[in-house]
Amino acid sequence: MEKTNLEILVKKALDYAKSFENTGKVASYIPELFKADRDALGVCIVANNKKIYKAGDCETLFTMQSISKVVALILALQTVGRDRVFDKVWVEPTGDAFNSIVRLETHNHIPLNPMINAGAIAVAGVIDSEFPFSDFLALMRKLCGREDIYLNEKVYLSEKASGMKNRAIAYMLANEGVLEKDVEQTLDFYFKMCSVNVNAEDLARIGSILANDGVNIFTGERLVESEYALIAKTLMVTCGMYDGSGEFAIKVGIPAKSGVGGGIMCCVEDNFGIAVYGPSLDEKGNSVWGLKILEYLSKELNLHYFSGAKVKEYI
Ligand code: GLU
Repeated sequence: MEKTNLEILVKKALDYAKSFENTGKVASYIPELFKADRDALGVCIVANNKKIYKAGDCETLFTMQSISKVVALILALQTVGRDRVFDKVWVEPTGDAFNSIVRLETHNHIPLNPMINAGAIAVAGVIDSEFPFSDFLALMRKLCGREDIYLNEKVYLSEKASGMKNRAIAYMLANEGVLEKDVEQTLDFYFKMCSVNVNAEDLARIGSILANDGVNIFTGERLVESEYALIAKTLMVTCGMYDGSGEFAIKVGIPAKSGVGGGIMCCVEDNFGIAVYGPSLDEKGNSVWGLKILEYLSKELNLHYFSGAKVKEYI
């Protein structure tokens, strides 16, 4: 069967990325993450014609890491509403590294946004549930459209053993009354949500739901309230790519959230969910080749939010 334009394009995007030297490093500060294949690379698009386009390593499982912060934020908004969530975390970019602790001392003690570790730990602590991780998994399974989404036990234990900085952040938040729940239990949930295994298609499916105002295009079911999808996407634009969010906004210009496991989850309004997987990271924590794929797709398909997408020509 003849390949469609988009099938060809995802393959070209992958080849384009691989034409660059792999200058990144696999994250090692969580020892278990360092076992990933640094040359792995995959891209998946879930398009609004209900077709899925893939190239490269799309079946490989990897942990969500920071991408879980988007789902935890949605869960928090769904369980306690926006006022209680934004009482504990603000919505402003930091320009600092994702695990920075400095502003907690200098900036009013409230984490600046939910996409940095401090903000995500505050969000984890505000979710009103006895079993927040079970609720998180249940939401993940709905968003990904499959039941077999699980915790990666080894990564979780590795994070738990090495997460001293996150522990310091959580205790500072507790000291200031931002974190009201039990600190160790909240951290345990945070480490677990970061350690959920997904593949590129799972993340592209979540991206597609956000791109479609919270609705699953395959079933027509609304999984995320419109207001919360908008909040999640906006924070992905301003804070989703760590302290590289501004540069990414110029070069690619789509809402995206990166994780140190090598994933990047993106959404193109009314059109696509896109995910890339490439565990070799730049110094900010973003996938080196993943960024190249997204730059290529954005340019070829005119995906930048200020360029007026022309994807219809491709599908
Ligand atoms: N679990 C990681 C941490 O807390 C998440 C970091 C990330 O993906 O940015 O350090």
